[in-house]
Amino acid sequence: MSMIIFDMDITCDVKIINYKHMKSISFILPVILLLMATVVNCQNTNEITDPELTEIWEPQPPVVEPVDVHGEPPEDAVILFDGTSLDNWVGADGSEPQWIVEDGHMTVNPGTGGITTRQEFSDIQLHIEWRAPEVIDGEGQGRGNSGIFLQERYEVQVLDNWENPTYSNGMNGSIYKQHIPLANPAKRPGEWQTYQIFFKSPVFDENGDVEEPAYITVMLNGVLIQNNVEIFGNTEYIGPPSYEEHGPAGIHLQDHSDRVSFRNIWIRELDEEIRFKDGIWRDPQ
Ligand code: MG
Repeated sequence: MSMIIFDMDITCDVKIINYKHMKSISFILPVILLLMATVVNCQNTNEITDPELTEIWEPQPPVVEPVDVHGEPPEDAVILFDGTSLDNWVGADGSEPQWIVEDGHMTVNPGTGGITTRQEFSDIQLHIEWRAPEVIDGEGQGRGNSGIFLQERYEVQVLDNWENPTYSNGMNGSIYKQHIPLANPAKRPGEWQTYQIFFKSPVFDENGDVEEPAYITVMLNGVLIQNNVEIFGNTEYIGPPSYEEHGPAGIHLQDHSDRVSFRNIWIRELDEEIRFKDGIWRDPQ
């Protein structure tokens, strides 16, 4: 539905351009009145209060059979969670995290807030495994909901979407309310699922304006579901996304009141110096 918001802005612009081309003097007063009404109408589109306005329900991505992904960390990976402690994480407002650690995984403790890595990151490769509660409780967005926020702002949705339809730009594997996933390789609730996330952080200029947006690629259970898509700004539940300047920031896992579990979380930092070099191809001439 964010697309519709943009369409409304475009419509407003088109109306104003058309008015400029109306030459007849007899149209001046009505044109002024219409222009004023248009400006007021355009301003109203910026005051969005209904979260349903940014939901998109069609198309629904095709269901693809998931596969198991083996998640051994490479030697240069930073281990964020090895199944034994939350030492690398902080809770809401910097407090000690209250999530429950047992049997090699951690589980959301509803109402205690999300948790965030102590370490901050920019460009990354992230491996993270999760599962929704085995006993189905709730539906739509209220079933196995959590989220992986890159740089504490950009959400890859975590949701139990096994035979559980919801708006497709908010389903499992969506860049929440920005990009519908290419496929739905969901496993059953209670089964471990694997995200492999490749994230390129945004670059801001000296004025704090975005110079280069963030890009993200996501694989779920061995299936490519986001293919280097542009992130349009901070994840928003209501209204359109927009950027605010920031530097390196943590990985945040969401408490959305559902007892979603996580295990085997590791990350590799990607070298920005390499990223900004000219590339490896050189013209031999
Ligand atoms: Mg979520």
